[in-house]
Amino acid sequence: MTPATRGFLASNPSGRVLHQHAHPEDVVEGSSCRESVCPTELQRSSAEAEVLSPYPFAGKLHSGKQAARDISLRLFLLPISQNKEKQVLRAILLYLSKAAWARKLVCSLPFASRAAARFVAGDTWEQALHVIQSLNDDGLFVTIDHLGENTTTREEAQSAADTYLFLLQEIKRTGIKSSVSLKLTQIGLNLDPDLCWNLLRRIVQTGSESGIFVRIDMEDSGTVDRTLDLFYRLRSENLSNVGLVIQSYLYRSFGDTEKLLEIPTPIRLVKGAYNEPPEIAYRQKSDTDTAFDQLTSSIIRAAVKDGARPASADGHFPPITALGTHDEKRIEYGIHTAQQEGLPKSALEIQMLHGIRPEYQRALAKDGFPVRVYVPYGTEWYPYFTRRLAERPANIWFILSNFFKR
Ligand SMILES: Cc1cc2nc3c(=O)[nH]c(=O)nc-3n(C[C@H](O)[C@H](O)[C@H](O)COP(=O)(O)OP(=O)(O)OC[C@H]3O[C@@H](n4cnc5c(N)ncnc54)[C@H](O)[C@@H]3O)c2cc1C
Repeated sequence: MTPATRGFLASNPSGRVLHQHAHPEDVVEGSSCRESVCPTELQRSSAEAEVLSPYPFAGKLHSGKQAARDISLRLFLLPISQNKEKQVLRAILLYLSKAAWARKLVCSLPFASRAAARFVAGDTWEQALHVIQSLNDDGLFVTIDHLGENTTTREEAQSAADTYLFLLQEIKRTGIKSSVSLKLTQIGLNLDPDLCWNLLRRIVQTGSESGIFVRIDMEDSGTVDRTLDLFYRLRSENLSNVGLVIQSYLYRSFGDTEKLLEIPTPIRLVKGAYNEPPEIAYRQKSDTDTAFDQLTSSIIRAAVKDGARPASADGHFPPITALGTHDEKRIEYGIHTAQQEGLPKSALEIQMLHGIRPEYQRALAKDGFPVRVYVPYGTEWYPYFTRRLAERPANIWFILSNFFKR
C-alpha cells in the first residue's frame, strides 16, 4: 500500500472516518455521508425499525422526500444484508437497460437526465471538453466515450464513426491528454459486420496517424468472439494503437487473456457490467474478484516481460496494464503485485469512471500512478446510466433525490 492510498483507506481527505460498508463518494459525489445514506448512522437511528420493516410507509404519512430517503436507505442496505435481492435488482436494472419502452419513459423524465449528469460529462462535445480539461489540470488522463450502442441503421453507425474521427482531430487540436473508447455495436457490429469492420479500421488508422490509442470496450458475451476477431484483424494489418477490455466475470477470460498477452495487447481489466448466465460467468462477486486478481497478476507479468512501457506523457497511450475498477482491494492487490514483479508505477494504470470516487482517483494520481478517467458524453446516456445503477442500486437515490429537487 502506498502512502496516499493508505491514508485514503483510513479516512477521506476531509478527515472523515469511513464506514465499513459506505464510502462518502458511493452515493453522492462531493456530498457528506449525512447528505447521502450512511448505514452506520442508520443503525443508530430511531427510525431503523421502520426502515427495515417490509412496510416502510405503514402507519405514517411520509413527505415525498422522506419516502425517497426511506427507499434509498433500504436500497443501500441490500449489499449488506440481502445479497439475493441485490442480484435480482441488478438483473431487473440490466434488463431495463435494454428495454426500449423503459428507455423512452426514463428519457422523457427531466429529473432522470439530471441524475444521469453525475456520470455523463454533458450532451455536447463543448461541455465534455470542459470536463476533460479540468480532469487533465488535476493530473488525470482521460479516455473519451461518445455514448451510443446497438445502432439499428447504417446512418447511425456512420455518424457514430464520424464523431470518433472528429474526436481524434479534437484531441490533436486541443492537446488534451486523452485516448478514445468505443463500442463496436455503436458502429454496426450487430447490423453489418463489413460496415463495422470498415468503420473501425478507418478510426484506428486515423488514430495511428495521430498517435492516439483506441480502446475497444467489451460488451455482452454475444459480442466477445466477434470483438476479438476484429481486434486480431486490425493487428494483422499492423495497427498497434488498439487494445481490448477483458471481463473477469467470464470463465473464458483466462484463455482469452493468455492469447492476447502473447502479442502483448494493452488490456483494460474490468469485472464486467452485463447480465450473463452462470454457464459462462461467475455469479458470486467473490469469484469475480478472485479471477480479477489472478488476471491482474498475469497481465502485470506480461507487461514486465514486454519492458514495462509506461503510459505516454501526452496521455494518448496507456501501458499494457490498466485496471478498470473502483475497488480498493483490487487496486491494492495490483499495486502489491506490481511491486513484487518489478513493474514501475508509471506502467500500472488505474482507470475509473467519471463521477465515481473522484477523490480516490486524485489520491492515486498524487501517489504517482497514471490514472485515466473514462468520460462519456452525448445524449444516448440511458443504457450506460442504467448499468451504473445496476452496479450500485443505492444510486437510485439520485433519481429519487433529483425528482424531489425543485
Ligand atoms: C474505466 C472503466 C471502463 C469500463 N469498461 C467496461 C467495459 O468495456 N465492459 C464492461 O463490461 N464493463 C466495463 N466497466 C464496468 C465494470 O465492468 C464494472 O461494472 C464497474 O467498474 C463496477 O465494478 P468495480 O470494479 O468498480 O467493483 P465493485 O465491487 O462493483 O465496486 C467497488 C466500489 O466502487 C464503487 N462503485 C462501483 N460502481 C459504482 C457505481 N456505479 N456507482 C457508485 N459507486 C460505484 C463503490 O464504492 C463500490 O463499493 C468499466 C469500468 C471502468 C472503471
